[in-house]
Parts: sequence; structure tokens; C-alpha cells
Amino acid sequence: MQLKLKCECGQVQGLLTIKSFSDGNNITCMCDDCQCFAHYLGKEDQILNKNGGTPIFQTTPNKMKITQGNEKLNCVALSPKGAKRWFTSCCRTPVGNTVSAKMSFIGLIHNFIDFNSIEESERLQFKNFSNHCMGNFGRGELPKNTSPKFPLGLTLKIMKTILHGKLFKTYQPNSLFNIETGDPISPLHIIPKDEIAKIKGKFS
Ligand SMILES: [Zn+2]
Ligand SMILES: [Zn+2]
Repeated sequence: MQLKLKCECGQVQGLLTIKSFSDGNNITCMCDDCQCFAHYLGKEDQILNKNGGTPIFQTTPNKMKITQGNEKLNCVALSPKGAKRWFTSCCRTPVGNTVSAKMSFIGLIHNFIDFNSIEESERLQFKNFSNHCMGNFGRGELPKNTSPKFPLGLTLKIMKTILHGKLFKTYQPNSLFNIETGDPISPLHIIPKDEIAKIKGKFS
């Protein structure tokens, strides 16, 4: 299955190639950091669902490829050791969350995935089957199967993928990091603490 990746204005594009929907984890993360990122981009209305959740597809970096507009990818973090969060400078579309160059993990944010590029039956799987996580930060009436934190089963699955990724180098090819130096392809900007406090004050 091949899904097109595309920012809102179309200047940044890529491809996600997976065997099936189960070739990753479809989650909706309601944590305050993901909410903060959406507000930082000024795109909370487009990104967050009614519970303040960000729909994300977690997979490995070798399955995604940026095919144009690499120079428009920006990287921020909420703290020096926090997740490296990517977005496009052209239209502030969120791209995904990563950890580091050799950590075989990327959480692609649905806004960057062009779901019109696949069949409707496939599209419905992404839209209808999600693990609702971090409900402690959620707003309104949460879906019945929401986990208050990040579920242990998923954490173990991700750890297994990352370990497998270390052995089989599924973190490369990598569109977002220079594998030799370990640096993000765009300089990392740490959002100042006072700016984060101001943003979080708006929604929590
Ligand atoms: Zn754009
Ligand atoms: Zn989150």
C-alpha cells in the first residue's frame, strides 16, 4: 500500500509504503505536549479532534520518503531531550514526531498523509481504528476504549520495533536525519519554556 504524503500547500511531498494498515500503530494522542505542538503551529483546529487528540500513524523511517521540499522541513522540541517534532515552514503542516537518527521510530501526523491516495476501505481503517491514548489530558467525553496513559502493550510493541530496527537498520534510509552525524536535516529549535507555559495555559 502506498500513501502520498503532502503538506497543506503541496510544496512538501513524500511517500509512505507499507504492507498493510497493521504495519504500524494508529493512535490518537491526547497528551499535553502533542496539544502544545498543534497550538504552536497555530493549527489546533485542523490537527486536534474534539478530545484534543492528535491522530498519528507510528511506523519506521525506512517506510517513508520525502520526495520534494526537504528544505522546508523544520524541527522543534519542547525540551532538550523531548521528541523532535517536524513541520513544514511553507504552511505549518505537522509532519511527525521522532526521537533520534538511529531510533527506528516516526509518528506521522495524519494531516501530512493524503488519505485520498488510497481506497476508501483502506482509508476507513485509518480513520476508524485508533488506539486512544493519554486520556488523562483529553477533553470532553472520551471514546470508551481510551487509555488514561500510554498503554503498556503498545509501548512494548514500539520497543520491539525499535530493537528490531537497531539490528536491521530500519531507521535508514532516513529523510529527516543525517545518519552519519546523527543531526536532524534542519537545525533543532528548542521552544523556550515560557513560550510553552503560555501555550499550555491556553488549553489546560
Ligand atoms: Zn506547505
Ligand atoms: Zn502526545
